[in-house]
Order: sequence, then structure tokens, then C-alpha cells
Amino acid sequence: MKTSRTMNPEIKMFTVPIAIRALKFASVYRIKTEKGTYLIDAGMDRAGFDFLLNSGVDFSEIDGILLTHLHIDHLGGGVIASEKYGIPLYIGKNDLEFIFKMQEDVDGYAGNDEKILEMNGVPDPSSLAFRKENPVFAKLDEYARLSINSFDKLPVTKTGIEYVSTPGHSPGSTCFIPSGTDIIFTGDHILEKITPNISYYDGVTDFLGHYIDSLRKTALLPVNNAYPGHGGPFSNVKGRIESLLSHHTTRMEEILNIINGKMMTAYDIACNMTWSRGRHLDSMNHMEKKFAIGEAISHLRHMETTGMCSTLEKNNLILYKN
Ligand SMILES: [Zn+2]
Ligand SMILES: [Zn+2]
Repeated sequence: MKTSRTMNPEIKMFTVPIAIRALKFASVYRIKTEKGTYLIDAGMDRAGFDFLLNSGVDFSEIDGILLTHLHIDHLGGGVIASEKYGIPLYIGKNDLEFIFKMQEDVDGYAGNDEKILEMNGVPDPSSLAFRKENPVFAKLDEYARLSINSFDKLPVTKTGIEYVSTPGHSPGSTCFIPSGTDIIFTGDHILEKITPNISYYDGVTDFLGHYIDSLRKTALLPVNNAYPGHGGPFSNVKGRIESLLSHHTTRMEEILNIINGKMMTAYDIACNMTWSRGRHLDSMNHMEKKFAIGEAISHLRHMETTGMCSTLEKNNLILYKN
């Protein structure tokens, strides 16, 4: 009889409530490999931490929390677990650097964000710019307290879990593959029912380009079953990657049709794009609006990088033309 080299890990999923209207829940996983017991993400806040505790997570047996990315709906509960139990937190290198940068100069980051929005034609940039109550980056003081490492400090031999860097949704987004399985924990890199938000984190980087590269890289991995950061596990991860890639192609075609010989700001373009459930920017809350404008910016930057459109700067505005 053939025996497999690695024992299948034991995985348990927890659907943790989060205070983000569009998502409602984040998925946290406890994984027991031959090497140890780890949590993949940890919910948004103290309520998420309590939810995990009440759902039977024994934090004293957790060897580490592997964070898929820096957004608070995945990271916040980990801060509390780390403080209460001394559990080490690990995150992708580029996300860690981004956290350090924010910690060093919160006001500088907020001011820069406001400037990016202003140059992209947003009429009320201060209302949308980075703010402490923005749920994605909320509780910066908690980030500041974090004792957190990059995966460089956690060898695969210690966890039995491989790390795959998949920048795009965040600068340091990371997926996890339990060694010897066809399972991939995708965080927000690949979701089944929602198209992951791709935005900007600075004034220049082509994050959609990084995201598309990361999707193609993921498609080449020997995996089939995705365990995402929102929603339950699903199979045929390669099929989902194909539909995400084609979604972004369609989005760029839509943008080209909107520009259609004119010169437009990213904000004007976002106002003319179709959003889920037929909504317009006016009916969105601040965070949703910011997401939508970020989506427009990331697509336009990628279109500029790949020569689908060009930009010119006029009166401190970035104008896109095709
Ligand atoms: Zn996210
Ligand atoms: Zn998320």
C-alpha cells in the first residue's frame, strides 16, 4: 500500500463577523500540521478575537498567526491574541515595510493620500483621504503596538506551510500552501464571489499589474482548492483566476469606452463606471467610494503602463486620454 509522504493537515474554518458593511464576515482558519498549530488571519478586532475564543480556539496551543495581508479585517484580532498570549504574528515583507512606514509618519501618509486623491480629481479629497477611522487601516495605534515579523523569520521547515508572495491586493499579500497538498489559503488575493479590491498605496506603483502577475503565478501552482479570506472554501481555483483576469480586461475596455477621445480624471471615470448592484458613487459610503476611486486609479495606472492610454498633468490634475 502506498503511504503519502505528508499527513493531511487538520483545518477548521471560523466565520468571524466584521464591521464592514460590504463584507460582513472574514474567514479565519486554524490549521494543524505535523509541525505545529497556526491561525491564518485572526478577524478584525476584540469582538473577532472573542468570537474565536468562544468558538473553541485554544490560543495557548497556537504557535503563530500567519497574516495573509495588512488589512484590519484580517489583522486586528491578531493584535489582541499577540498581546494576551504572546503569539507571534507574521506577515509578508512588503506589508510589514508599509506598516513601519505608516507608524513612522501617519500624518505624512494621510497628507500624501489626500494629494493623490486631489490630483485624480476627487472634489472633496479630505473626506476620503486616509483617516484613522477607515476600517481598512483603522486603529493605527494597534499597528504601532504590533510585534510582527516577516515570513523570512519563519522557515517552512518549522510550519509545514509554504508561503507564496502575491502582491496586488496589498503590497505584501501572501498565500499559504500546506506542504504536499493542493490547498491554497488565498486571503483576499482570490475570492470566490467578490472581485478583490485593487487600489493604490502610493503615487506611482502599478498595483493592478502586480495583481495580474500574481494571478498568473498562482495559476501555475499545483493547487486546486482555495480557502479564501471571505467566504468558504471552493475548488477550481484556476477557473476563478481566469474569470478574475477576464474581469479586469473587461473593466479596462469599459474605461477605454468612457474616455473615448476625451481627457478625464480618474474621478470622472469612476463616476461613469458601472459598480455592483448598479450603484453610483453618490450612494456609496466613504470607504466604498474610496474603494471605487482606488479601483479606477489602479486600472488607469495599469493601462498607462501597458500603453493603452496616456496621461498629462494640467492645473495639478492627472488627465487620462487614449
Ligand atoms: Zn484585504
Ligand atoms: Zn478582507
